[in-house]
Amino acid sequence: MRIALIAHDKKKDDMIKLAIEYKDVLAHHELFATGTTGTLVMGETGLNVRRMKSGPLGGDQQIGSMVAEGKLDLIIFLRDPLTSQPHEPDVSALLRLCDVQSIPLATNVASARIILSTLIK
Ligand code: PGA
Repeated sequence: MRIALIAHDKKKDDMIKLAIEYKDVLAHHELFATGTTGTLVMGETGLNVRRMKSGPLGGDQQIGSMVAEGKLDLIIFLRDPLTSQPHEPDVSALLRLCDVQSIPLATNVASARIILSTLIK
């Protein structure tokens, strides 16, 4: 599967823990991420991740464009629901496109665990 990983700043530790927990699963898939999230996940897990721009600089839109083109199969987007984001319109657009294209989308760790668990062989 082609999987995109995105985490807002206060959720980056959660994303790293999740990536470490599911490293063996993720290793069998093609990974994409927004800039900072990708750098952290690669650094902490050694997984190969194709990085887009940082989210606030257009990375969410790049991921959204891939969703629109049918180039992603799963999005794990650990959002921070308690902090306003300067790029909120980009965030909303990405979430909307996932629903338009019916792409699986996990926006919190519990959902991500359930979805990633289904990928364990
Ligand atoms: P980042 O972007 O991984 O570059 O921090 C995530 C976001 O804020 O959407």
